[in-house]
Amino acid sequence: DPRINGIKTKIRVVPNFPKPGIMFQDITTLLLDREAFKDTIDLFVERYKGKNISVVAGIEARGFIFGPPIALAIGAKFVPLRKPRKLPGEVISEEYILEYGRDCLEMHVGAVEPGERALVVDDLIATGGTLCAAMNLLERVGAEVVECACVIELPDLKVCNFTLSFHSYPLVICT
Ligand code: 5GP
Repeated sequence: DPRINGIKTKIRVVPNFPKPGIMFQDITTLLLDREAFKDTIDLFVERYKGKNISVVAGIEARGFIFGPPIALAIGAKFVPLRKPRKLPGEVISEEYILEYGRDCLEMHVGAVEPGERALVVDDLIATGGTLCAAMNLLERVGAEVVECACVIELPDLKVCNFTLSFHSYPLVICT
């Protein structure tokens, strides 16, 4: 799709952020370009419209940027998956291992019903650990994860073992 290259050129790569050695993929420059931002959302909507998806789960923080417009366009609700101690209601938590240390995602109890078909949205997949935790949360409450949608994939990092229900859908592969 010719739109993918246009999107790719709008993602800024910032060397040594947030620490030395990291090439940070900055999607804020993509958001500044109306056409590329719209193309990004449109590509996801074209893929997921009519697939009977009732919930889009966005991962904090950049999944909160791409998730809601996709949810509105495909007729789904939006559920935020947040870092610990941010959600005010009763939560279900899933811990996961990072390169250095641990992190955790939380979701409000009752936000997703058993049997719902879910799409997980984030900006970027590196090791896949964050998406794995998100899928576990949704599956623990009885939802079916149809797919995970990311704008960017970092191919040089090993992706952890996913269940067969997982299909990465990167729009842009960064090499
Ligand atoms: P993973 O769990 O797949 O190793 O890491 C993915 C998570 O880290 C995503 O939530 C993503 O937002 C964040 N992340 C890691 N590196 C980058 C980067 O270079 N740019 C952006 N925008 N996010 C990153």
